[in-house]
Amino acid sequence: MTEAPYSGQPAQILTTISDLVPPGSAGVSPIFDPDSIDWSVDWMTAMRRAVRSAEQLRLLLGLPLEEGVGEAGPRPAFSTFVPLEFLRRIQPGDPLDPLLRQVLPSADEAIEYPGFVSDPVGDMESLAAGGLIHKYDGRVLLIASGACAVHCRYCFRREFPYSEAGSRREHWKPAIGYIRSNDDVHEVILSGGDPLTLVDENLFELLDQIDRIEHVRRIRIHSRLPIVIPQRITSAFCEKLKGLNSHVWFVVHANHANELDDACLNRLSMLSDSGIPVLNQSVLLGGVNDDEDSLVEFLERLVDHRITPYYLHQLDRVRGTKHFEVPIEKGLLLMSQIRSRLPGYAVPTYVTEHAGESSKTPL
Ligand SMILES: *Cc1c(COP(=O)(O)O)cnc(C)c1O
Ligand code: SF4
Repeated sequence: MTEAPYSGQPAQILTTISDLVPPGSAGVSPIFDPDSIDWSVDWMTAMRRAVRSAEQLRLLLGLPLEEGVGEAGPRPAFSTFVPLEFLRRIQPGDPLDPLLRQVLPSADEAIEYPGFVSDPVGDMESLAAGGLIHKYDGRVLLIASGACAVHCRYCFRREFPYSEAGSRREHWKPAIGYIRSNDDVHEVILSGGDPLTLVDENLFELLDQIDRIEHVRRIRIHSRLPIVIPQRITSAFCEKLKGLNSHVWFVVHANHANELDDACLNRLSMLSDSGIPVLNQSVLLGGVNDDEDSLVEFLERLVDHRITPYYLHQLDRVRGTKHFEVPIEKGLLLMSQIRSRLPGYAVPTYVTEHAGESSKTPL
């Protein structure tokens, strides 16, 4: 996740944050002032002004600095990256905020546990052609971009070697070639990283190339951007998706009701209004969404806004994420609790992923 988010330009830190956090300030009163921020900026500006260190995040939210968790977090390969649009949904001063926990590096990440490895789902074994993962029948997953709009501490791809595996434009050629020559591939999933970190020009070109392949009937977009930086969804973007021959399915990724603020829900409605089914996948995360009431509130907010809960993932056992793990027995109990309180369509499928299996495995 070291790649620049768009157009090959190195990502830059805007002065905004330095202005917000004067050098030497170490106080524990929150410095982040939502009223001082221009919320009308486009998504690329939002990416550029994202918070890029644990210290800045703590300072902005009025949290004490933590010993031993450095500038880039305990694992420099997976830095801190939090756009202000996400930060504003975090409660200042609350170290247990469920959104903060998803993005703030913790000293726990440095602890090694047996069974927590760098590629738990066997993605490297399934790489078919430049950035393409063909694990399951009928569908392929294309790593369209190595960049993300937020760095989630529990990410199962946090150690994925994007630059080697191919996430750049030149890698699309063999990927497109592979899809073209495999006529049993009916669905192409754009994933990453996050495919919506590509600028429209590049993304549209990729969509067109896929759309021209006759046997591809569906294009699925897996993205956290509509949640993290909602203004990424524009009417031009919706029009583009509407105009494709392939049916487009959208899968967003949120884990807690607090992520679904009005800005986010409004943009997701634009997708639904364009006739695009919007699904959500979540990860079951200790200290974030591992209680009945949080899950019920979250799932209801999704369906109340025409978003269908798709998967609830058991955490993949990737190194440095043990502190997020919820025991499967507890997950199963939560599932039976939410099932008794919600309509069937609001209940996601609780799944895990085993390397080498032909699909995700329902629990
Ligand atoms: C999860 C995943 C898919 C999609 O699986 P669905 O069950 O269809 O959502 C496809 N390819 C890979 C490599 C995956 O990890
Ligand atoms: S969970 Fe998704 S959005 Fe978050 S860091 Fe991983 S790939 Fe990126």
